[in-house]
Amino acid sequence: MKKADYIWMDGELRRWEDCTVHVMSHALHYGSSVFEGIRAYDTPDGPAIFRLEDHIKRLYRSARMYRIEIPYDFETVCAACIEAVRENKLTSGYIRPLAFRGAGSVGVTARDTPIHLMIAAFPWGTYLGEDALKNGVDVAVSSWNRLAPNTIPPGMKAGGNYLSSMLIGYEAKDRGVAEGIGLGRDGLLSEGSGENLFLIEDGVIRTPPGAASILKGITRDTVIKLLADMGHDVQEQPLPREALYTADEIFFTGTAAEVTPVKKVDGLDVGNGDYPVTRSVQDAFFGLFSGQTKDTRGWLRHVQE
Ligand code: PMP
Repeated sequence: MKKADYIWMDGELRRWEDCTVHVMSHALHYGSSVFEGIRAYDTPDGPAIFRLEDHIKRLYRSARMYRIEIPYDFETVCAACIEAVRENKLTSGYIRPLAFRGAGSVGVTARDTPIHLMIAAFPWGTYLGEDALKNGVDVAVSSWNRLAPNTIPPGMKAGGNYLSSMLIGYEAKDRGVAEGIGLGRDGLLSEGSGENLFLIEDGVIRTPPGAASILKGITRDTVIKLLADMGHDVQEQPLPREALYTADEIFFTGTAAEVTPVKKVDGLDVGNGDYPVTRSVQDAFFGLFSGQTKDTRGWLRHVQE
Protein backbone atom coordinates (compact mmCIF):
# COMPACT_ATOMS: atom_id res chain seq x y z
CA MET A 1 0.00 0.00 0.00
CA LYS A 2 2.84 2.35 0.81
CA LYS A 3 3.61 4.31 -2.35
CA ALA A 4 6.27 6.75 -1.14
CA ASP A 5 8.30 7.50 1.98
CA TYR A 6 6.72 10.77 3.06
CA ILE A 7 3.49 12.71 2.98
CA TRP A 8 3.32 16.41 3.74
CA MET A 9 0.65 16.66 6.40
CA ASP A 10 -0.49 19.60 8.47
CA GLY A 11 2.65 21.63 7.95
CA GLU A 12 5.40 19.03 7.89
CA LEU A 13 6.70 15.94 6.14
CA ARG A 14 5.69 12.80 7.97
CA ARG A 15 6.33 9.16 7.29
CA TRP A 16 3.68 7.66 4.98
CA GLU A 17 2.55 5.13 7.60
CA ASP A 18 2.05 7.82 10.24
CA CYS A 19 -0.49 9.80 8.22
CA THR A 20 -3.74 8.48 9.65
CA VAL A 21 -7.03 10.15 10.58
CA HIS A 22 -9.66 9.71 13.28
CA VAL A 23 -12.78 7.68 12.39
CA MET A 24 -14.93 10.60 13.51
CA SER A 25 -13.45 12.83 10.83
CA HIS A 26 -16.23 14.93 9.30
CA ALA A 27 -14.98 14.22 5.78
CA LEU A 28 -15.42 10.48 6.25
CA HIS A 29 -19.07 10.96 7.19
CA TYR A 30 -20.15 13.73 4.85
CA GLY A 31 -17.60 13.94 2.05
CA SER A 32 -16.29 17.31 3.21
CA SER A 33 -13.00 17.22 1.38
CA VAL A 34 -11.58 19.01 -1.64
CA PHE A 35 -8.59 17.88 -3.58
CA GLU A 36 -6.40 18.10 -6.64
CA GLY A 37 -4.63 15.67 -8.94
CA ILE A 38 -1.39 17.00 -10.40
CA ARG A 39 1.34 15.36 -12.40
CA ALA A 40 5.08 15.79 -12.25
CA TYR A 41 7.04 14.91 -15.37
CA ASP A 42 10.63 13.96 -15.96
CA THR A 43 11.92 16.72 -18.24
CA PRO A 44 15.41 17.30 -19.71
CA ASP A 45 15.87 19.93 -16.95
CA GLY A 46 14.82 17.55 -14.17
CA PRO A 47 11.43 16.79 -12.61
CA ALA A 48 8.81 19.49 -13.14
CA ILE A 49 5.27 19.89 -11.85
CA PHE A 50 2.72 20.72 -14.52
CA ARG A 51 0.54 23.80 -13.96
CA LEU A 52 1.01 23.62 -10.20
CA GLU A 53 -0.31 27.13 -9.52
CA ASP A 54 -3.47 26.52 -11.57
CA HIS A 55 -4.21 23.35 -9.67
CA ILE A 56 -3.69 24.99 -6.29
CA LYS A 57 -5.90 27.91 -7.35
CA ARG A 58 -8.65 25.42 -8.14
CA LEU A 59 -8.06 23.75 -4.76
CA TYR A 60 -8.71 27.06 -2.98
CA ARG A 61 -11.78 27.71 -5.12
CA SER A 62 -13.24 24.29 -4.30
CA ALA A 63 -12.42 24.82 -0.62
CA ARG A 64 -14.13 28.22 -0.57
CA MET A 65 -17.37 26.67 -1.84
CA TYR A 66 -17.54 24.34 1.15
CA ARG A 67 -16.25 26.81 3.76
CA ILE A 68 -13.06 24.80 4.12
CA GLU A 69 -10.53 27.40 5.17
CA ILE A 70 -7.14 26.03 4.24
CA PRO A 71 -4.87 27.15 7.08
CA TYR A 72 -1.86 27.77 4.81
CA ASP A 73 -1.25 30.41 2.19
CA PHE A 74 -1.00 29.75 -1.52
CA GLU A 75 2.80 29.86 -1.71
CA THR A 76 3.17 27.50 1.26
CA VAL A 77 0.90 24.96 -0.43
CA CYS A 78 2.79 25.22 -3.73
CA ALA A 79 6.10 24.85 -1.90
CA ALA A 80 4.75 21.83 0.00
CA CYS A 81 3.87 20.11 -3.31
CA ILE A 82 7.40 20.69 -4.53
CA GLU A 83 8.81 19.41 -1.24
CA ALA A 84 6.68 16.25 -1.42
CA VAL A 85 8.04 15.44 -4.90
CA ARG A 86 11.62 16.32 -4.01
CA GLU A 87 11.79 14.54 -0.65
CA ASN A 88 10.30 11.37 -2.09
CA LYS A 89 13.00 11.57 -4.78
CA LEU A 90 10.48 11.28 -7.58
CA THR A 91 11.50 11.97 -11.14
CA SER A 92 7.85 11.88 -12.20
CA GLY A 93 4.59 10.98 -10.51
CA TYR A 94 1.23 12.07 -9.22
CA ILE A 95 0.59 14.65 -6.54
CA ARG A 96 -2.57 14.56 -4.47
CA PRO A 97 -3.27 17.55 -2.21
CA LEU A 98 -6.38 17.00 -0.09
CA ALA A 99 -7.96 19.42 2.38
CA PHE A 100 -10.64 18.01 4.65
CA ARG A 101 -12.64 18.49 7.81
CA GLY A 102 -11.32 16.41 10.64
CA ALA A 103 -12.86 15.16 13.89
CA GLY A 104 -14.91 17.53 16.02
CA SER A 105 -18.67 17.98 16.20
CA VAL A 106 -20.71 15.53 14.19
CA GLY A 107 -23.15 18.12 12.83
CA VAL A 108 -23.23 18.41 9.07
CA THR A 109 -22.64 22.16 9.20
CA ALA A 110 -20.15 22.03 12.07
CA ARG A 111 -17.42 24.58 11.60
CA ASP A 112 -15.46 23.77 14.72
CA THR A 113 -13.82 20.80 13.06
CA PRO A 114 -10.10 21.20 12.34
CA ILE A 115 -9.12 21.58 8.69
CA HIS A 116 -6.34 19.25 7.66
CA LEU A 117 -4.22 19.48 4.55
CA MET A 118 -2.18 16.61 3.25
CA ILE A 119 -0.10 16.35 0.10
CA ALA A 120 0.94 12.92 -1.11
CA ALA A 121 3.29 12.40 -4.06
CA PHE A 122 4.00 9.00 -5.52
CA PRO A 123 4.95 7.25 -8.78
CA TRP A 124 2.05 6.72 -11.18
CA GLY A 125 1.92 5.47 -14.74
CA THR A 126 -0.85 5.71 -17.31
CA TYR A 127 -4.39 5.80 -15.98
CA LEU A 128 -6.59 4.07 -18.53
CA GLY A 129 -4.35 1.10 -19.20
CA GLU A 130 -1.02 0.39 -20.83
CA ASP A 131 -1.91 0.84 -24.47
CA ALA A 132 -4.65 3.43 -23.95
CA LEU A 133 -2.53 6.37 -25.04
CA LYS A 134 -1.42 4.61 -28.19
CA ASN A 135 -4.43 2.61 -29.30
CA GLY A 136 -7.31 4.33 -27.56
CA VAL A 137 -10.01 3.06 -25.22
CA ASP A 138 -13.49 1.59 -25.53
CA VAL A 139 -16.15 3.60 -23.73
CA ALA A 140 -19.90 3.47 -23.16
CA VAL A 141 -22.48 6.12 -22.36
CA SER A 142 -23.42 5.66 -18.75
CA SER A 143 -26.93 5.04 -17.50
CA TRP A 144 -26.01 7.47 -14.71
CA ASN A 145 -26.30 11.19 -15.37
CA ARG A 146 -23.65 13.57 -14.13
CA LEU A 147 -24.49 15.84 -11.22
CA ALA A 148 -27.14 18.34 -12.22
CA PRO A 149 -26.31 22.04 -11.98
CA ASN A 150 -27.49 23.53 -8.71
CA THR A 151 -27.20 20.25 -6.83
CA ILE A 152 -23.59 19.46 -5.98
CA PRO A 153 -21.52 21.78 -8.19
CA PRO A 154 -19.74 19.65 -10.79
CA GLY A 155 -17.23 22.44 -11.38
CA MET A 156 -15.69 21.96 -7.93
CA LYS A 157 -13.29 19.18 -7.13
CA ALA A 158 -14.82 17.87 -3.92
CA GLY A 159 -14.55 14.35 -2.54
CA GLY A 160 -18.31 13.76 -2.58
CA ASN A 161 -18.52 14.45 -6.33
CA TYR A 162 -16.64 11.25 -6.92
CA LEU A 163 -19.56 9.10 -5.81
CA SER A 164 -20.99 10.01 -9.23
CA SER A 165 -17.67 9.14 -10.87
CA MET A 166 -17.64 5.80 -9.04
CA LEU A 167 -21.09 4.85 -10.30
CA ILE A 168 -20.13 5.75 -13.86
CA GLY A 169 -16.74 4.08 -13.61
CA TYR A 170 -17.91 0.84 -11.97
CA GLU A 171 -20.72 0.48 -14.48
CA ALA A 172 -18.24 0.93 -17.33
CA LYS A 173 -15.86 -1.70 -15.92
CA ASP A 174 -18.76 -4.12 -15.35
CA ARG A 175 -19.67 -3.69 -19.01
CA GLY A 176 -16.09 -4.45 -19.99
CA VAL A 177 -15.13 -0.97 -21.22
CA ALA A 178 -12.45 1.36 -19.89
CA GLU A 179 -14.60 4.37 -19.09
CA GLY A 180 -18.13 5.72 -19.04
CA ILE A 181 -19.38 8.99 -20.48
CA GLY A 182 -21.91 10.83 -18.39
CA LEU A 183 -24.72 12.86 -19.87
CA GLY A 184 -26.09 15.93 -18.15
CA ARG A 185 -29.67 15.96 -16.83
CA ASP A 186 -30.65 17.49 -20.18
CA GLY A 187 -29.30 14.48 -22.07
CA LEU A 188 -26.42 16.45 -23.54
CA LEU A 189 -22.81 15.30 -23.41
CA SER A 190 -20.94 16.06 -20.23
CA GLU A 191 -17.69 14.23 -19.47
CA GLY A 192 -16.08 10.96 -18.44
CA SER A 193 -15.92 9.98 -14.78
CA GLY A 194 -12.55 11.73 -14.53
CA GLU A 195 -11.89 13.22 -17.96
CA ASN A 196 -13.12 15.94 -20.28
CA LEU A 197 -14.28 15.10 -23.74
CA PHE A 198 -13.30 16.44 -27.19
CA LEU A 199 -14.97 15.51 -30.49
CA ILE A 200 -13.76 16.21 -33.99
CA GLU A 201 -16.07 16.06 -36.98
CA ASP A 202 -15.34 17.39 -40.45
CA GLY A 203 -12.33 19.22 -39.06
CA VAL A 204 -14.35 21.04 -36.38
CA ILE A 205 -13.14 20.50 -32.83
CA ARG A 206 -15.78 20.74 -30.14
CA THR A 207 -15.99 20.21 -26.39
CA PRO A 208 -18.90 20.55 -23.94
CA PRO A 209 -18.98 23.98 -22.27
CA GLY A 210 -18.50 24.78 -18.59
CA ALA A 211 -22.27 24.77 -18.06
CA ALA A 212 -22.56 21.12 -19.16
CA SER A 213 -22.00 19.64 -15.69
CA ILE A 214 -18.26 19.32 -16.18
CA LEU A 215 -15.18 19.99 -14.17
CA LYS A 216 -13.34 22.51 -16.32
CA GLY A 217 -10.15 20.54 -16.54
CA ILE A 218 -6.72 22.07 -16.56
CA THR A 219 -5.72 19.58 -19.26
CA ARG A 220 -8.81 20.67 -21.22
CA ASP A 221 -7.57 24.24 -21.02
CA THR A 222 -4.04 23.15 -21.93
CA VAL A 223 -5.29 21.33 -25.02
CA ILE A 224 -7.47 24.27 -26.11
CA LYS A 225 -4.40 26.52 -25.90
CA LEU A 226 -2.08 24.06 -27.65
CA LEU A 227 -4.64 23.66 -30.43
CA ALA A 228 -4.86 27.46 -30.75
CA ASP A 229 -1.05 27.54 -31.09
CA MET A 230 -1.46 25.07 -33.96
CA GLY A 231 -4.06 27.29 -35.59
CA HIS A 232 -7.14 25.31 -34.53
CA ASP A 233 -10.15 26.87 -32.90
CA VAL A 234 -12.06 24.79 -30.32
CA GLN A 235 -15.78 25.40 -30.03
CA GLU A 236 -17.16 25.07 -26.52
CA GLN A 237 -20.78 24.25 -27.13
CA PRO A 238 -23.63 21.98 -25.99
CA LEU A 239 -23.34 18.68 -27.80
CA PRO A 240 -26.02 16.05 -28.38
CA ARG A 241 -25.31 12.40 -27.61
CA GLU A 242 -25.41 11.44 -31.27
CA ALA A 243 -22.30 13.52 -31.91
CA LEU A 244 -20.43 10.62 -30.30
CA TYR A 245 -21.49 8.26 -33.06
CA THR A 246 -20.72 10.54 -36.00
CA ALA A 247 -17.39 11.95 -34.80
CA ASP A 248 -14.24 11.28 -36.82
CA GLU A 249 -12.14 11.44 -33.67
CA ILE A 250 -12.83 11.57 -29.94
CA PHE A 251 -10.36 12.01 -27.14
CA PHE A 252 -10.34 12.39 -23.38
CA THR A 253 -8.22 14.85 -21.44
CA GLY A 254 -7.30 14.80 -17.78
CA THR A 255 -4.34 14.94 -15.47
CA ALA A 256 -4.56 11.20 -14.96
CA ALA A 257 -5.75 10.27 -18.48
CA GLU A 258 -3.51 12.89 -20.18
CA VAL A 259 -4.65 12.85 -23.85
CA THR A 260 -6.28 9.49 -24.55
CA PRO A 261 -7.98 8.62 -27.87
CA VAL A 262 -11.37 6.92 -27.76
CA LYS A 263 -11.61 4.11 -30.28
CA LYS A 264 -15.10 2.76 -29.69
CA VAL A 265 -18.30 4.18 -28.19
CA ASP A 266 -21.14 1.82 -27.30
CA GLY A 267 -19.68 -0.80 -29.63
CA LEU A 268 -19.38 1.55 -32.61
CA ASP A 269 -15.93 2.34 -34.01
CA VAL A 270 -14.95 6.00 -33.87
CA GLY A 271 -14.24 7.27 -37.39
CA ASN A 272 -11.97 5.07 -39.47
CA GLY A 273 -9.49 4.41 -36.70
CA ASP A 274 -7.17 7.25 -37.70
CA TYR A 275 -6.58 10.01 -35.19
CA PRO A 276 -4.59 12.74 -36.94
CA VAL A 277 -5.76 15.65 -34.77
CA THR A 278 -5.63 13.61 -31.57
CA ARG A 279 -2.10 12.50 -32.42
CA SER A 280 -0.95 16.04 -33.04
CA VAL A 281 -2.49 17.15 -29.72
CA GLN A 282 -0.80 14.25 -27.95
CA ASP A 283 2.54 15.15 -29.55
CA ALA A 284 2.21 18.79 -28.54
CA PHE A 285 1.14 17.84 -25.01
CA PHE A 286 3.88 15.31 -24.30
CA GLY A 287 6.29 17.61 -26.13
CA LEU A 288 5.93 20.02 -23.22
CA PHE A 289 7.74 17.47 -21.08
CA SER A 290 10.29 16.21 -23.60
CA GLY A 291 11.19 19.77 -24.57
CA GLN A 292 9.80 19.42 -28.14
CA THR A 293 6.99 21.88 -27.37
CA LYS A 294 8.14 25.22 -26.03
CA ASP A 295 6.67 26.03 -22.60
CA THR A 296 5.73 29.59 -23.54
CA ARG A 297 3.29 30.02 -20.66
CA GLY A 298 5.48 29.00 -17.73
CA TRP A 299 3.47 25.83 -17.08
CA LEU A 300 6.41 23.80 -15.77
CA ARG A 301 7.62 24.31 -12.23
CA HIS A 302 10.94 22.59 -11.68
CA VAL A 303 11.41 20.92 -8.34
CA GLN A 304 15.19 21.12 -8.04
CA GLU A 305 16.50 24.05 -6.05
N1 PMP B 1 -13.58 15.87 -15.03
C1 PMP B 1 -13.52 15.22 -13.85
C2 PMP B 1 -14.79 14.78 -13.20
C3 PMP B 1 -12.29 14.98 -13.24
O1 PMP B 1 -12.22 14.34 -12.08
C4 PMP B 1 -11.10 15.41 -13.89
C5 PMP B 1 -9.77 15.14 -13.25
N2 PMP B 1 -9.41 16.17 -12.36
C6 PMP B 1 -11.21 16.08 -15.11
C7 PMP B 1 -12.47 16.30 -15.66
C8 PMP B 1 -10.00 16.60 -15.83
O2 PMP B 1 -9.46 17.68 -15.11
P1 PMP B 1 -7.89 18.03 -15.14
O3 PMP B 1 -7.51 18.11 -16.57
O4 PMP B 1 -7.80 19.31 -14.43
O5 PMP B 1 -7.20 16.92 -14.45
